[in-house]
Amino acid sequence: MKENTLTLAIQKSGRLSEGSLSLLKKCGIRIQNGTNHLKAKARGFPLELIFLRDDDIPQYVEDGVAAAGILGLNEVLEKNKNVEVIRPLGFSRCRLSIAIAEKLSYQGRESLNGKRIATSYPFLLEEFLRKNQIDAEIHSISGSVEVTPGLGLADAIFEIVSSGSTLLSNGLKEVERVMESEAVIIARPDLEPQQKKLLDQLLFRITSVQRAENNKYILLNAPGDKIDAITRLLPGVKSPTIMPLAIEGWFSLHSVVKEDDFWEVIDNLKDAGAEGILVVPIEKMIT
Ligand code: ATP
Ligand code: ZN
Repeated sequence: MKENTLTLAIQKSGRLSEGSLSLLKKCGIRIQNGTNHLKAKARGFPLELIFLRDDDIPQYVEDGVAAAGILGLNEVLEKNKNVEVIRPLGFSRCRLSIAIAEKLSYQGRESLNGKRIATSYPFLLEEFLRKNQIDAEIHSISGSVEVTPGLGLADAIFEIVSSGSTLLSNGLKEVERVMESEAVIIARPDLEPQQKKLLDQLLFRITSVQRAENNKYILLNAPGDKIDAITRLLPGVKSPTIMPLAIEGWFSLHSVVKEDDFWEVIDNLKDAGAEGILVVPIEKMIT
């Protein structure tokens, strides 16, 4: 591993690739020659990318071939390697659930006793069964787990669910939500100081991007006697910038608001006298 370059493993192609590359791009990091090769040098940060199957990333990070990696929390926990989960990244959200044939009745977890459950997550399934004292048989398979009940190979499955449409089309129903997952960044727990410094710099950029995505810049106009009431309506706003408009007695208020909170107060803002409300995205937020 080169001292002054951070090696980051990401999924070569699949449901994590686009989110991973898009996050890096927002952090000002671009790759030069696509994901067709095993490795690529990045521009805009001393970073080398390695493109792998997501299943292999925890092992490569544990072995130190890569200092860090981006993959689903589900896969990190399944592989159970000596890696540290640094932080969630907010994309590729899904859940791991147990599903059974639609026509079967389900009276709680005890119903799984004596059943054959097909999965590509045998480690996590075993943990779930042990915790819940369920005595079921684990069928570890890779590939299309959803078709196994229809083929008579299993009574239930333990797999990733996002919208549930794959379950539906295979005549299955979700009966237990076992864990939530999203993309996370992982790293070796014992990075060299130089590598740790680079990772911290990358995390700093990620934080700025994430913060910007959760916040919006708001501009609105209001008469001077309404400014206090309007400011009180804006959640989390301590001291907005207030500037006089060319029209006597009118002001422009500028501030940063959390997007989620904002939609709840929009009607109240208008009732309180706010006009010409503009909400604009923030590209980076450095604090
Ligand atoms: P690979 O060839 O790299 O092994 P894969 O077949 O294991 O790919 P993908 O289907 O690309 O995997 O899924 C990768 C990860 O994306 C999953 O482990 C999970 O964290 C997440 N994921 C999977 N399915 C969905 C989904 N439907 N919606 C959102 N995220 C998902
Ligand atoms: Zn995989």
